[in-house]
Amino acid sequence: MFYLKAKLANGKVNKTDITDENVFTRCPDCGRELPIDLVEVFSDGEGDLFSTSIVCSTCTKKRAEKSSHTVGIKITIDGIALLSDTLCQASYGEQVYDLFNEYEIEAIQELVPEQYESFADALKALATEGGSL
Ligand SMILES: [Zn+2]
Repeated sequence: MFYLKAKLANGKVNKTDITDENVFTRCPDCGRELPIDLVEVFSDGEGDLFSTSIVCSTCTKKRAEKSSHTVGIKITIDGIALLSDTLCQASYGEQVYDLFNEYEIEAIQELVPEQYESFADALKALATEGGSL
């Protein structure tokens, strides 16, 4: 058992056992006070009282949304056009054409934004799988 030892203003020393219920931290994003389960923090073997920061569940979710949103923005029609041009020049023209058929389009510009990600993934798959369709 560990305990906290703090000297009070009246000179008395206050000792408080550290339990799984009296350790708190603040979320670095929103400042909300969070109860900490030290066992959980240290269980991955990387826990460290000084540098570990715990993000609350709301901010964890926000961070995840933010990063996936950023990924979504990265896929642009220009990027897809460039990727398909590159693949065509790298002799994947036939496979790219098949993909156009699959999406029932004649030009990249006909893709709707909801298709960008899956189309880009399909193009990337062509390149990484060596077009073994
Ligand atoms: Zn937070």
